[in-house]
Amino acid sequence: MSHNLFETFARRMHERGDADFITTREGRRYSHADALVASASLAGALVELGVAPGDRVAVQVDKSPEAILLYLATLRVGAVYLPLNTGYTGDEIRYFLSDAEPALFVCRPAAVEESRNIAAETGCPAVQTLGTAADGSLMETAAAATPRETVEPREENDLAAILYTSGTTGRSKGAMLTHRNLGSNAATLMEAWHFSENDRLIHALPIFHTHGLFVACNVTLMAGASMLFLPKFDADVIFEEMPRGTVLMGVPTFYTRLVADSRLTPEVTARMRLFVSGSAPLTAETHQAFEEKTGHAILERYGMTETNMNISNPYDGARRAGTVGQPLPGVEIRITDRETGDVVPAGEIGMLQVRGPNVFIGYWRMPEKTREELLEDGFFITGDLALVDEHGYVQIVGRDKDLVISGGFNVYPKEVEQVIDELEGVVESAVIGLPHPDFGEGVTAVVVPKAGAELTEGEVLEHLQGRLARYKQPKRVFFVDGLPRNTMGKVQKNELRKRFDTTYR
Ligand code: AMP
Repeated sequence: MSHNLFETFARRMHERGDADFITTREGRRYSHADALVASASLAGALVELGVAPGDRVAVQVDKSPEAILLYLATLRVGAVYLPLNTGYTGDEIRYFLSDAEPALFVCRPAAVEESRNIAAETGCPAVQTLGTAADGSLMETAAAATPRETVEPREENDLAAILYTSGTTGRSKGAMLTHRNLGSNAATLMEAWHFSENDRLIHALPIFHTHGLFVACNVTLMAGASMLFLPKFDADVIFEEMPRGTVLMGVPTFYTRLVADSRLTPEVTARMRLFVSGSAPLTAETHQAFEEKTGHAILERYGMTETNMNISNPYDGARRAGTVGQPLPGVEIRITDRETGDVVPAGEIGMLQVRGPNVFIGYWRMPEKTREELLEDGFFITGDLALVDEHGYVQIVGRDKDLVISGGFNVYPKEVEQVIDELEGVVESAVIGLPHPDFGEGVTAVVVPKAGAELTEGEVLEHLQGRLARYKQPKRVFFVDGLPRNTMGKVQKNELRKRFDTTYR
């Protein structure tokens, strides 16, 4: 029996026939049946271009329905889909192509010349283009190619995709994801979040990342549902579309923007049944404000490139602000001492480890890194610090590498940030550790003040007196207009550390 994930999707697509699969605001539409036909044409193009089972297909294109059809075609021919962040520069692409050695690189039409040069340098044999209006050489090749109706048989542990981590230190690593990894997670999430063919997902995330690609698209495909494809998050458009949608998946910044908008009401969200948040921490404040304004409790979940989704607040039952919920069915977790690896007593902070059919099989061509992070017993060291609270819900405390160790004491940035954020006049804050001659690291706060607020360093420090142990209190407070974030809304603390590096030296 073949375990090609595409077969599972294709069965559902046959059943759904003429029902919507992807639509756009410009009036473009693919039904499920259309997507099956188009993926066969694109699969024909891939074969003609020399893509064989197991080959990588690297893709750096702007968001479009055709990019998803290309993902499906890649699965269909048994090749490995490798999406790349649209923000990557030529130098970065050079690294990815030489590391992954794809058989084909699909780029944006405007980047074709540079891409051809990089492909030639790195030994990539074929380059095609794909634009956002069903244009580009790949679509022309597909139109002329003999459609490939068959589906290449695959084993459960054959690769379906490689997703490079957005690592902020060292080289980006290619997470190898199998048909089983993606298929099991999509089935689990569909069930956990009650997805059905009646759903219409408002899709405003990028499609080169696990959230917008696998969580959003695979769950939609598995359920036979539909998606409205938006090029990016735009609050005006979201408010217009919510009365016609049922689900929104977002990063926390989507929700902070919606909450700040006077158009957010129970009426405008009345038809929506689910708001999902992930990829970065949603503050309890945003969760509560959203619920007050709409009656909807945002469902926060936790996952990562290497593992797909691991932990989720429940569909039925309490969605607790400031937590990511409980392990999904089939997922096991343990919290361990970051030094010894021993399991810590209940309620204590430690390193979060996860195991399940969703967890990747290793980093592409990095056996040592794989051994360091994917343990022999199948648990993956996530790099996130977490605790399980008295309700059995998991709280993510932050990345292990963002932990500040000052004078030998562990300072968890989130704890300090939460106290600073309580201050009137503060929008948000980031707490970092900077090299310090006496303490090893000096706790440092970077604060975004509200417009017009006249907040001083002394006032912030005074607020912390008595609320936090002395060793947790920042030695310095800096004010900035905004925190640096990546496209998934994650605060880039390494950039802040670089910027303020010499503070104590
Ligand atoms: P990525 O591989 O880009 O998806 O990033 C995964 C990382 O994002 C995790 O290891 C966490 O640090 C963070 N993350 C994802 N979801 C959440 C969440 N709900 N709360 C806090 N951090 C999260």
